[in-house]
Amino acid sequence: MGGTVQIKCPNCGLFNTNADHCSNCGTLLSYKKRRELAFKQDEKNRRLRREQEKKSTPSFIESGEANKFLVIRVFTKVLKSIGVVVMAIGAFFAWLFTFLAA
Ligand SMILES: [Zn+2]
Repeated sequence: MGGTVQIKCPNCGLFNTNADHCSNCGTLLSYKKRRELAFKQDEKNRRLRREQEKKSTPSFIESGEANKFLVIRVFTKVLKSIGVVVMAIGAFFAWLFTFLAA
């Protein structure tokens, strides 16, 4: 451990000794750091994907919920209209019966 580590720059081909970055072009040389960076990038991508999935899944559920709400709203509206009609008919019959009884 602790010996000189020569790493060839993947970008410009210069050999660098004990350096994380190429002394010529500044490219990151350390395999470990590159891996860490790639891992972090991977993590980021995975997190982004997960967030997107999370975002897309609830919106799907929400749209379903919205549809349910719409159906319920229409249904209650219909029920209310039926109720009004029934009440009107009832009132009419009540009026009719009072009229007939009189
Ligand atoms: Zn370089």
